[in-house]
Amino acid sequence: MNDWATKGYLEPGEIKTTLPRKELLMKHLIAISECIQEIPCNPCVTVCPLKAITMKDINAIPVIDYEKCNGCGKCVGICPGLALFLIGIKNGKGIITLPYEMLPLPGKGNEVYLLNRKGERLGKGIVMRTVIVNKQTKSSLITVLCENEDDIYHIRNIEIIK
Ligand code: SF4
Ligand code: SF4
Repeated sequence: MNDWATKGYLEPGEIKTTLPRKELLMKHLIAISECIQEIPCNPCVTVCPLKAITMKDINAIPVIDYEKCNGCGKCVGICPGLALFLIGIKNGKGIITLPYEMLPLPGKGNEVYLLNRKGERLGKGIVMRTVIVNKQTKSSLITVLCENEDDIYHIRNIEIIK
């Protein structure tokens, strides 16, 4: 079994794709993939209106053309593996859109804990937007603002502050 499968989380070195150029991240949000399991799955490819996601075959991992992506988030909302995110940089701060399947949902302006891949708290951020993508399950896309732009490479979940 792979190391990540035993641990239950990914180390940055286990992610197989490269990251977008910083200049692009400063223009608008860009989709990134942390999909590493080679299983038959491709809704991210079929949902992308700009054909920015490709795969060599149905079992391959997706490749995102960052120059084509406009950050619409459709792929993030449809991915059953919660393996896609949007990241961006604005005025030195980081912006991350992540899939969220917990309740209650945080609302715009709420302060939340920002968690890394391991579930450790890295600090606090502010919710900029909550979009429900499945009315039945309430699964959502949460967009958060973080103080440090470099956190976009580490934050992959949030925790409601009680
Ligand atoms: S964010 Fe939108 S444009 Fe970018 S890869 Fe995903 S579906 Fe395509
Ligand atoms: S939809 Fe998600 S899990 Fe499926 S191939 Fe795309 S990124 Fe991977």
